[in-house]
Order: sequence, then C-alpha cells, then structure tokens
Amino acid sequence: MKLWSFHGGIALPGHKQESTGNPLRTAPLPRHLILPLSQHLGVPAEPLVSVGDKVLKGEMIARPGGFVSAPLHASSSGTVIAIEERPVPHPSGLSAPCIIIETDGEERWTTLQQQSDYRQLEPATIREQIRQAGIVGLGGAGFPSYIKLNPGKTVRTLILNGAECEPYITCDDILMRERAEEVLQGLLIIRHAVQALHCIVAIEENKPEAFHSMQHALQHFSEGANAIEIVSIPARYPAGGEKQLIKVLTGQEVPSGGLPIQLGVVCHNVATAAAVFRAVRYGEPLLSRIVTVTGSAIAEPCNLEALTGTPVMELLATCGTDFNVLEEVIMGGPMMGIVLADHEVPLVKTGNCLLTVRRGEMEQHPTVMPCIRCGKCADACPVSLLPQQLYWHARAKEFDKIQEQNLFDCIECGCCAYVCPSNIPLVQYYRFAKSEIREQQEQKRKADLARRRHEQREQRLAREKAERAARHARKKPGITDEKKKAAIQAALERAKASKSKQGAPTDDV
Ligand code: SF4
Ligand code: SF4
Repeated sequence: MKLWSFHGGIALPGHKQESTGNPLRTAPLPRHLILPLSQHLGVPAEPLVSVGDKVLKGEMIARPGGFVSAPLHASSSGTVIAIEERPVPHPSGLSAPCIIIETDGEERWTTLQQQSDYRQLEPATIREQIRQAGIVGLGGAGFPSYIKLNPGKTVRTLILNGAECEPYITCDDILMRERAEEVLQGLLIIRHAVQALHCIVAIEENKPEAFHSMQHALQHFSEGANAIEIVSIPARYPAGGEKQLIKVLTGQEVPSGGLPIQLGVVCHNVATAAAVFRAVRYGEPLLSRIVTVTGSAIAEPCNLEALTGTPVMELLATCGTDFNVLEEVIMGGPMMGIVLADHEVPLVKTGNCLLTVRRGEMEQHPTVMPCIRCGKCADACPVSLLPQQLYWHARAKEFDKIQEQNLFDCIECGCCAYVCPSNIPLVQYYRFAKSEIREQQEQKRKADLARRRHEQREQRLAREKAERAARHARKKPGITDEKKKAAIQAALERAKASKSKQGAPTDDV
C-alpha cells in the first residue's frame, strides 16, 4: 500500500522494550474504587446511586449528563460509601465529583445481554449498546465512541489506530499481541455500524510482534477479511495523531478546524475496538483497561489490566515502585501526558500509561532563553503551524491574532518545545491561550444568554400589557364594536412595535 508522510514530526527514543519484556498481568482488586463522574470529553455523568447502595459489577451507577457524555458503571461489586470530590487526573490538579465503592471481593456481575452475531443487529442498535456501555476513545482523547459511530456520511475508510507513537506507552502493542482477534472482531462491528467500505489497521514499524499477531489473526477470519488491510507505518512521532495518520495512509489533509469524516474517514483506537467487541458480544460495559506502568522508579515495568477506579498508588505498588526515589508520576507519555499533582488519583478510562520519574532524573527547570527565531519549531510542527508566532501572541495575550494563526489546530504534541534550543515551554503558552479563549467564549455565551432572556421578558410583559388593555376595552359599557376593534388594534400595534424594536424572539421564559 502506498504511504505518504506528514510535515514535521521528530524521531524519539522509544523506551518500549522496558515494559513489553514482561507479560500482561492483572492488577489486584482494590479495597476502594474511586470513579470520577467525568472520564470522558463532554458533560459529566449524573449519579444514579446513593451512599449505602449495594452495586453489582457492571451496573450503571451514573447516566450520561448530555449528548456528548458517557455513563459510568461499577467496576466491581460492593457498597457505595461516598459521593464526593476527590483528586482526579487533570492538568489543573483540582478535585472533581467521584463515586467511591468499597468492594466486597465477590465480583458479582449484573445481568449481561450477550449477542452471538452482531450482523443481526441494526447499526443504530450497535451504537446504542456502545453508548450504554460507556465506551470512550481509549487512545487518550476520551471522546464518547457512539458519536463517531454515527458519522451521517458515507465512510469510505475506517482506520484503526495502533500506531502508539509516544515513547514508553505499550498498552496497545500488548493488546494487539495478546488479543488480536478481539481487536479485529471489534473492527468488524464498527465497520458494520458505520457501513465502511474499507478498513486499515495502522501499526508503527517498531511493533513487529503486534503486526504479526494481527496478521496471523486476520488469516483465520472467514468473514470481512478482504475488507481489512494491516499496514506497517514508519515510526515517527506523532504518527498516531489522527490527522497525521490520515495523511500517512491516504495522502489527504483534514482541513483546518475540520473533521476526518469530511474526507470520508473515521478513526478509532485499537483498544476502543476491543472494548466495542466485548460490549456487543458479551454485553460488558467498559470497566477496565490495559495500562503501561513504567519508568525509572519501577522495578518491574509491565502492562497491567486494571479496573477503572483503582488508585494509582496501588498500581505503582503492584509493579514494585521504589517510593523512596519517586519524584513524579505522569499519566500518559512524556510528550503529552500530565504530571499527577496527587498520587491518590484513580486510573480512569483514558489512562494509558503511568510513567514514573526518579528524583534528579530530569533536568530541573532548564534555563529559558529568548527566542532566536531559528525556525526549528516550525520545521518540527506536524500541523504546519508557526509555533514561534503562536508563542509571541500568547505572551502578548493577543488572542484574536493567535486564533488567526489556527491555535486550535495545535494538538499539543510538544515537538516544537522538544526541538527549541531556547528551552521555551511553548506548549504551556498554547494551553494558557486556549484556556483563556475558552473562558472568554464562555463569558460571552453567558452574557448573550442573559441579554436574550432580558429581551424576551420585556416582550412578554409588553404582550401581556396589550392583552390586558384589549380585555379592558372589550368590557367597557357602551363602547361600540368599532371602538373595541380600534382599541384592540392599537394595543396589538403597540406590542408589535415593541417586539420589532427588541429583535426576533427565541424561547420564552
Ligand atoms: S525553536 Fe525556539 S528559539 Fe527557535 S524559533 Fe522556535 S521558539 Fe524561537
Ligand atoms: S505543540 Fe502544537 S505548535 Fe507545537 S509542534 Fe505540536 S502541534 Fe505544532
């Protein structure tokens, strides 16, 4: 298959073999599960349980809070002992509402609905099952998967992303090595749901075992195999970025601010496909994931299959972490991960890696120097942005200008900061600018809403006044029909004039 290349990107040391040298293990059942209501992009889920309730494994304990949202399920059986704010893995380091379950050690399941042949199901039914199962993009984005399964356009190419381009992270590699058939079955279900014509599984060339395992599994597929191509792509960070992967595989560029479906393409992560298979075939909601536990403070780097909600500290302890030398834990990889402000946080659906850093291992706050306009950041940017321009605008808080430079196309991959000889923490500036712009937009939205509601109220009061006047005119003794009509007409004219002065109404209040 012909491959293309994307602009920029960097070659990074992989550090993959540290964790792939050991087999996949299952993490022990924790005493307490901490389940944040927001483990996905969009609106947080809303609790369906109260403190003291007994819950079964797989039982829905929080429903989706809106269209872009996902439900939450009990990862094991036990008792709800609290619904309260707890530290969660988030760049802000803030706490967020969580449901806390004390496990009973029995792992008693709720009733699950199994389906032996997904082809008997309508695409809409599959989408609803995936929604009910709480499946979100497991590559790290956390976007509710059912939305991407309803593209509303013809899907020519369905891409399964097994690139896993960021250093240290190997959870998808291990999944493809050990559960290739589940991944491919999930791919066929997604293909059925979106009615895709052609499927490509993309794996970076530094994962030969995963590639061969997937090839081997595909050979034993009797149905759908002709529509699936497994492709090895060059290892270059960030080849696993959605837009970069589409460029590599199709030669097409997703337009600025656009979505892959505009090109007839839909992308899902390999772990998401495996979760889709388990949800449709066995009725299992998303309760666990594979997480890479690695880095210099770990005695036995490996991949663990762990229940979501398991405290990170327990996962670190399972892999023999030397807590005496532990300085930092990053959830995710070294380029795009977040430094955990609190190690008491739980594993969440999007937590693909726990990367430990020993004391003194990282250079402490390298000296930041002025930009020398060398242009290396622009050469490295995989989105063809001008990182140094974004930096200047962010520093000057020129938020209009920075948006003209397509700030929101920035995927925060960190390539620019990695190559910058002046050690400028460029991505931090972009995150700051994005959050400021979002805050301003939210303030504007609230102000617009308040103005519209005020206008609608004024209109309603004017209309009621006119109607009262009309009623009063009708009741007056001795008044002629002509006078009545004239009074009503005059009142209506006044109401109409007031309405046109204030603009077109929307919802009443
Ligand atoms: S790489 Fe750093 S020093 Fe060079 S232009 Fe970009 S921001 Fe400036
Ligand atoms: S962080 Fe943003 S600006 Fe920097 S290289 Fe990545 S996409 Fe480009």
